[in-house]
Amino acid sequence: MRASSATRTPLPTSRGALLLEQLGQLEQSQWWSVDQLRDYQFKQIRRLLRHAWETAPFYRERLTAAGYATGGSFDGTAWLRLPLLTRRDIQSAGDAIHSNNAPAKLGRVTAIQTSGTTGEPVTVRRTEADALLWEALTLRDHAWHRRDFKGRLAVIRDSVDRELGEPPEGSVFDNWGPPVSEVAVTGAAGVLKPTDIETQALWLAGFNPDYLLTYPTNLRALARHFAVSGERLSNLRGVRTLSETMPADLRELCREVWGVPLHDMYSCKELGYLALQCPEDEKRYHVMAETVLVEILDDQGRPCAPGEIGRVVVTSLHNYATPLIRYELGDYAEAGLPCACGRGLPTIERVLGRTRNLLVLPDGRRRWASISFKQYPEIRMVRQHQLIQHSLNDIEACLRIDAPLTATQEARLREIILESLGHPFRLTLTYFRNEIPRGPGGKFEEFISRIAN
Ligand SMILES: [Zn+2]
Repeated sequence: MRASSATRTPLPTSRGALLLEQLGQLEQSQWWSVDQLRDYQFKQIRRLLRHAWETAPFYRERLTAAGYATGGSFDGTAWLRLPLLTRRDIQSAGDAIHSNNAPAKLGRVTAIQTSGTTGEPVTVRRTEADALLWEALTLRDHAWHRRDFKGRLAVIRDSVDRELGEPPEGSVFDNWGPPVSEVAVTGAAGVLKPTDIETQALWLAGFNPDYLLTYPTNLRALARHFAVSGERLSNLRGVRTLSETMPADLRELCREVWGVPLHDMYSCKELGYLALQCPEDEKRYHVMAETVLVEILDDQGRPCAPGEIGRVVVTSLHNYATPLIRYELGDYAEAGLPCACGRGLPTIERVLGRTRNLLVLPDGRRRWASISFKQYPEIRMVRQHQLIQHSLNDIEACLRIDAPLTATQEARLREIILESLGHPFRLTLTYFRNEIPRGPGGKFEEFISRIAN
């Protein structure tokens, strides 16, 4: 590969100024060519590998076994030979996965714990410099989607702080909080823990937000509620979703019900933002290539061509506290074509969800299982649904409904579910009058497989 002229200056000292400087650099680098970005990434990777080999015992062993030698040549082919890192690897490595000498200039080291959707808790450390980049990417998302910071922001999500957002009042602040409040004067922000939809709707109507941030499944339930009740959110200008796979029909539902666009973000707790929605093409995500290398790999470990679906493997380019090198997230995604907007940032067409969300057919094939109830108006009373695959032949459909279904509706429902699953499974229907319980870590999965993946 040719030498890159692309460089980014080190992080300066006062936070707001630092963030704006980082944002300014991101504004430039988004227009770099594909080759420039790739060169920049591999320059960072060579530094990271050296650091990991020198300061993290787990990586010294693993990289040496893969034929890595400091100072030696290292190219894209050698990279593809490096084994993938799993959550189980991180768990069993213990402290050996962390660097024993993270550079002091990158700031204080803090730990993040996450159980992910696989329910396997891991601890990852990061530096202040990482945290800053993460926040700069938040600002990039706001800039791309031209949000007006003077608007009122409503956030409905679980919070680390148990006291925060307790229903029915929630918590209200006079600004959006960091990072936006560090660079701009903002409107008020309200935070509410996910609770029953009626309480959420009341809270939203009272708060009257310009923007709403929540999980896709929660957003869908809210949109359905507002569609049925006819209540309005007169100031609403946009919604943002995070943390779960966004179903394809949700965007349209938001347009129908509220007349607003939906912007989805692809992130994980360990690395922060992986990809953000293109400002000019809502069907496409741009990878945050300045901070993360995202690989989409087929079953043989080869990079997927545009249009192909594969496993998502990520490398954090700047985490010198816990190097995450070729880390397998458990998500699947479809590799995308270069975007017509002109940004060189690689694209993802869609994120398909977690490994355990794949349906296993009795013949062993796995496929993404998703059911859209929207096209079937006769069963619109299903407020929330979850499918659980208990065995190769058994599926349980958990359905939140307001009133019992008639025999005809139930028969129709069975038909729709089996049709979308593409196989005549034994199907059990379980009804809930309230919220279907969430899994560990507060995430809600629309499809759970109890079969080991
Ligand atoms: Zn684009």
